[in-house]
Formats: sequence, C-alpha cells, structure tokens
Amino acid sequence: MKRSVLYICSLVVLIVGSVRPGQAADKPNILFLFADDHAYQAISAYGSKINKTPNIDRLAKEGMLFENCFVTNSICGPSRACILTGKYSHLNGFYRNGNRFDGSQLTFPKLLQKAGYQTAIIGKWHLVSDPTGFDYWQILIGQGPYYNPPMIENGKRVNHVGYTTEIITDIALDWLKNKRDKNKPFLLMCQHKAPHRNWQPGPKYLTRYDDVTIPEPKTLFDDYKNRGTAAKTQDMTIRKTLTPDDLKLVPPKNLTPEQRKAWDAAYGPKNEAFRKMKLTGDDLVRWKYQRYIKDYLRCIDAVDDNVGRVLKYLDDSGLAKNTVVMYSSDQGFYLGEHGWFDKRWMYEESLRTPFIVRWPNVVKAGSRNSAIVSNVDFAETFLDIAGVDIPDEMQGRSLVPLLKGTTPKDWRKSFYYHYYEYPGAHSVRKHYGVRTDRYKLIYFYNLDEWELFDLQEDPNELNSVYGQPKYKKIEAQLKAELARLRKELKLPKEDPPESYPPKRKRKK
Ligand code: CA
Repeated sequence: MKRSVLYICSLVVLIVGSVRPGQAADKPNILFLFADDHAYQAISAYGSKINKTPNIDRLAKEGMLFENCFVTNSICGPSRACILTGKYSHLNGFYRNGNRFDGSQLTFPKLLQKAGYQTAIIGKWHLVSDPTGFDYWQILIGQGPYYNPPMIENGKRVNHVGYTTEIITDIALDWLKNKRDKNKPFLLMCQHKAPHRNWQPGPKYLTRYDDVTIPEPKTLFDDYKNRGTAAKTQDMTIRKTLTPDDLKLVPPKNLTPEQRKAWDAAYGPKNEAFRKMKLTGDDLVRWKYQRYIKDYLRCIDAVDDNVGRVLKYLDDSGLAKNTVVMYSSDQGFYLGEHGWFDKRWMYEESLRTPFIVRWPNVVKAGSRNSAIVSNVDFAETFLDIAGVDIPDEMQGRSLVPLLKGTTPKDWRKSFYYHYYEYPGAHSVRKHYGVRTDRYKLIYFYNLDEWELFDLQEDPNELNSVYGQPKYKKIEAQLKAELARLRKELKLPKEDPPESYPPKRKRKK
C-alpha cells in the first residue's frame, strides 16, 4: 500500500517536475528564516515585555502572525525532522537529539527540487546525516559555535572567522546574489544557531542592556506545588542548572585575540562587581536571571538585525514581491517562567513557537490567526504554495487557506504532543498529551501521572486540576480525544528502544 502511494507520488513528481523552467519561474520563492530556541515572549509582535524586534515585527505588519503554532516534540532535532517530513517523530524516526536523520525518506525540499525549485539550506542543521534534497548546503557541525564556526559546504569543510549569526546571513545573501540559478524559483532555508544555549552575544551586542533591569516573569520562583513528579524533578532551573560558562563567568575558548579583548572589556568589570556582591538565595537567582536573559536578548538582537539585512536585500533586488517569507523557531523556550530555561515540556512556553508569514498580494497585511497550527503543517504549506501535490503520508495540513483568509470549518480543534528524551539532558520525563483551545491534558506515562490544566482559569499552568470532581467530564472527553488522535496519527503502543536509530559520528 505504502509502496504504491510512493509510486503514485513519484509519478506526480515526475509530471510536475517536467514543466518548462519558464513556468516554474512564475512560482513564488520561499524563504524560511528559522531560529533555534527563539521564544515568542521575546518578539515584540507577540507582545514581548522585555525587548523589541523591529525586523521580525515588520514581517508581522506586512503578513500574518499565528498565535497558536504548536510543535509536535519540543526539541531541536525532532522539530527539524518534523518540518522536513511533515510527519511526527514516530514516523520520521527522529525522536530525540542524538538520533540520525534518515535522509532517504520523503521530504518537502526533495519534492520542491523535483518541481523545478533551486533549494538551499544554510546554517544550523543538527540532524547528523548530510542534507538531502538541496542543491546547495552549508551547515554548522552539530550545534556549532557562536564565534568562528567551521561549516560543511556541500560535503567539504570550510572555516569562517566572525560571529555565526552574521556569517550565516552573509552566506545566504551570497547564495541569493551569486550562486543560485536565477531562472528557477528558490527555496532558501536560512537557519540560525542563535539564540540557543550558551547565549554568546556578538561583538556589537556585548554591553547592550547593561544599564537596564529586565522585568522578571511572574513564575520565576515557582515551587511546583499542585503538579506531579516531573515538574519537581527536572534539571533546568536558573537557580541550580546554569553553569559558569552559561553565565559568562568564564570566557569562551575559541575567540581570536581581538574578539577576546572585546569580550573581556565587556564582561570583566561586570564579573568583578558580581563577585564583590557575594549574593546568595533568591538574590542570586535574580542576578542569574538578569545575566541569562540579557545574553539571550543580545543574541536575538543579532538575529533580528540579520533578518533586516535579508529583507533589505529582497527589497533592493525586487525579489520581495514574489517571495513568501516566513519566520519561525524550532520550538518555544522558557525565559525564567517556572524558574526555568530550556524547552521540552508540553507547557505553553515550549509547546508554542513563533510563526509569521509574509506573502505579498495573498496574505492580508497585519492579520493574526488563532487557529491551532503546527510545525507538522509547514511541509504541506510549502508544497501547496509551490503548487506541488501533497503526499498522503504527510500528517499535517496546508495552511494556504488560512493564509488566504479563511480557516476551513473542519480545521483541527485539538493537537497531539509527544516528548521522548528521557533519560537525557535536563531530566524532563517522557510525556504525551492533547491540547484544545481551553484545556491541556498531559500524561507522564513512565510515571503513570496525569496533569490537567484549564488555561482559561490558570494561564500560567500552576494548578493541575486532574481528578477534581468539577473537571471529571472534561477529563473523560480529553482522554477520548487523546486516544482518537493517537490512533489517527498511528502511534505505536511502545516507544522505540533508547538507542534507536544508532548514533554515528562524522569522520574528521
Ligand atoms: Ca532548539
């Protein structure tokens, strides 16, 4: 059955792929601007109380902002695999960081390439195997450093000196200007490392925010009462988990002498002042929060400036009018909420990711959409924009009708989430669950513990109401919906073995 579907798909691809270049050239270009760990709470178009992102905001002003874009599995590699394949982790095989992406499977860049698109990916890849389906690729090795990154360009190692966010943008602009076939429409995935841990700011941003105090989130001192074992036993608090390296109490190791001089000039006096204060307890947490969040925002300032550079090139070159530009992140992130940094949970801050789309003459400028959408919808959306048939095996749904201003009546009313990486970094227990517009039911299945949140009454998710008589009926409805979604999405009864698929290292 699967094979015959694949056969039909490849026939479709062959037919679509045989159009003359002149026809393909009329299709819109797709520019996917992607960050790593960029929380919606740190985008002013999403109502940030802590920073301004004028260039990303410009996309929202000229396009559509999705208020409820959820990820299927809130962590870097799995999110990327989901985006490429349009499938959940259990069907694309990439469950947790350290897995190796099976590049032989069907992905949307392969289908766009066959339909006459020039395809390129530049920046963070993080899927271990080499990219497939791209005419040009230049990727960081694994996580990649913030400064002076070695990269792999179509299989060959190249070295760069400078700040990674700027270098990725330079390479993307060079590809747009000089390297692509200008007779074809393009797909360019420009994927930043920033603002991933350990949040090293670029030379231009080292002292920004030095003279301000960033507001603290309401739940910075969360005590995890009224939730289960998982929230109480994680290892991702600002209080205990941040390292001296995260906090810039020690300098990065790979800087050039000039970069090191600028770094020491910025952090030296700040660290000296900190050591003299001899802070303890909550005061120390507050200091750590300020150091963390300022470095995080400095990294985002560089991302936003570099989004601006790309938008300016689109304007100057005339490409803007026929290019769909998207901005998103591989997941959301905690900016001190619940006392945390990092992601992984089905709780709001990491479940929800920013997603903004500008599509001139199609998307109404300044519009917002509150439907439940997901990173599992991206692949189908890209294909639909390009007029390419969508394979049945993909599990999302094209967002093109929403972008054109109409959310279909039968649009999804619930969303399935599943996190697998335990044991693992930050000790977040495995869980799956269902979210609707008002409720969220989470099952920590290895603990056999449930949590239920009424987001209308408790938007900060501090009180699980699971088991309370008032919510019995809702609980039963959500459990039925969860079972329905698991069946529809073809979830296996058992998780894969921990080591699946085997991890392999790149030869040096
Ligand atoms: Ca990430």
